[in-house]
Amino acid sequence: MAVKQLLLPLTATEALPDEPRADAPDAPDAPDAPRPPPAAPPRVPKSKRLCRAIQATMGEHVRVVLTDNRATLISQSVRGEHEHTVRIHQMFLDGGDALYADLAAYLGRGDKRAGARIDAYIADNEHILRHHVKALPAGAAQGRVHDLAPLYAQLNARYFKNQVKADITWGKQGKSRRRRRHTITLGSYDERADRITVHPALDQTFVPELAVARVVHHEMLHAVFPPEVTKSGRRLVHGPIFQKAEALFEGAQEADKWLDLHLDRLLSNR
Ligand SMILES: [Zn+2]
Repeated sequence: MAVKQLLLPLTATEALPDEPRADAPDAPDAPDAPRPPPAAPPRVPKSKRLCRAIQATMGEHVRVVLTDNRATLISQSVRGEHEHTVRIHQMFLDGGDALYADLAAYLGRGDKRAGARIDAYIADNEHILRHHVKALPAGAAQGRVHDLAPLYAQLNARYFKNQVKADITWGKQGKSRRRRRHTITLGSYDERADRITVHPALDQTFVPELAVARVVHHEMLHAVFPPEVTKSGRRLVHGPIFQKAEALFEGAQEADKWLDLHLDRLLSNR
């Protein structure tokens, strides 16, 4: 990426007196060092301060766009030499200058420690994102062939003691139906929205309910079991606990066999 970077040290904007970092107990400045008197709180709007932090690190030419896109909280695109846009979810505005500096360091040079602090901030502020989740339209679980709502309710009662609270919906049909797919994600679970989405390819008359149930059950397990973390810090999305619970699904073999046999037809999705 052809981005000119002014590599500012992370600490350059960290030590604003009005926003102490709670998560940096080992900050380089000694606690007994004489401190300048606290400055008046900055009057510059948050969005402007964020923008300045990004540009100070990444260059004046970088455009900063604030978004409400829950799916991608931070992203950037570079087109040619002069078009560089970073997109940042508005939830980060409340993080203060230290977080802005982390965003700049992360976006500008992939600073991993900054990235870890950003992750922690996201985890702490998950509720903000949840709050912004759009409610599903009525009937989102009702397909042309299969109704996910009663299926989900049955599975919830049978395998989960009715403890799963996630939403469930059919996914939207992609636009390009002509292009042949090579992979298909039959189901997914969005932890932030607490929502299960089932691929519309399964909403067809030739698809038995058992196959749909198999996919829904799998995604419900994701709603129940967060990724397991191994001793070495690896995240296992389908760890041993998950697999043990998944094995309880009755008809698993039959469903998997059917899905394997019909994968081509599901991939062509008609
Ligand atoms: Zn899975």
